Amino acid sequence: MAQIYDRVALIGLGLIASSMFWAMKRGGLAGEVTGFARSAETREIAREIGLCDTVYDDINDAVKGADLVVLCVPVGVMGSVMEQIAGSLKKGATVTDVGSVKRDVIDKVTPHLPDGVHFVAGHPLAGTEHSGPRSGFAELFDNRWCLLVPAEGTTPEPIARLRSFWEGLGANVEEMDADHHDLVVAVTSHAPHLIAYTMVGVADDLRRVTDGEVIKYSAGGFRDFTRIAASDPTMWRDVFLSNKDATLEILGRFTEELFALQRAIRQGDGEHLHAYFTRTRAIRRGIIEAGQDTDAPDFGRGGGNKP
Ligand code: NAP
Repeated sequence: MAQIYDRVALIGLGLIASSMFWAMKRGGLAGEVTGFARSAETREIAREIGLCDTVYDDINDAVKGADLVVLCVPVGVMGSVMEQIAGSLKKGATVTDVGSVKRDVIDKVTPHLPDGVHFVAGHPLAGTEHSGPRSGFAELFDNRWCLLVPAEGTTPEPIARLRSFWEGLGANVEEMDADHHDLVVAVTSHAPHLIAYTMVGVADDLRRVTDGEVIKYSAGGFRDFTRIAASDPTMWRDVFLSNKDATLEILGRFTEELFALQRAIRQGDGEHLHAYFTRTRAIRRGIIEAGQDTDAPDFGRGGGNKP
């Protein structure tokens, strides 16, 4: 794989940034990689484990001269980070992000974009419930999707280059409109996370009644929920606050379906339940056939590459 950018700056050094770094090294995609994280502790860990060629204590030093700047911070701070670095960006550079929400990030970032700098928003649909600089691995993006949402009026060259970069990191790339992106991920990721958080919260409330049995006898379904509900609280708080409309729309539909299933149970309508579960089973088959998960019986417990 050929080098795509001379200098790449990673802002935020958690799961996604560290996975990008190891995948960049694997593919030889960047001449030099610089990095910055908010806390001295994270920067120290990064230096210790060789995450980035140079880790800077000053965010502006990290982005100076970079051809690609990747914002790998929680979505709630993307705008203020962009504001901080705007004056240090090189003319002709591309700024991108990896945030899980696109409309809000684009609205907050683009007002600070200097003339001559491109912004192409991005979102790799890959992750784990782990966070921090030690949690990344080079294979995270292999055969997963990365969605690009170019700002209006962006010329084709920076988009094509970023596409090649993500392909070099192992991902399949598609372009999408911001609002459509936010609705799709509300269904596939954001609402399921909220439901998992709720289910684990309910079990925790019940703990007093069941005297620890929820943990002791935790079975497959609940364990899968706890894995998702262990995801980073800051990241997910920001996701719900910045993808408010789409998440509420999907949760509204979810509540209606839940009421319908509740009614079927109350009325003993087995036919309704059976037909519903047959339909949902087919979706799982579709995901496996699309190569987005394996049919292994330990789903959700063995591997790491499951957002
Ligand atoms: P993470 O492991 O928690 O890392 C976040 C990093 O951002 C940390 O290095 C943190 O620094 C830094 N940071 C936080 N606030 C900052 C600020 N104001 N200025 C500079 N740095 C700051 O998070 P992640 O999972 O990599 O997520 C990063 C982004 O990727 C988020 O926008 C998220 O929505 C998106 N994403 C996540 C997943 C996933 O499954 N995790 C999947 C796809 C996309 P400190 O360590 O010093 O606090």
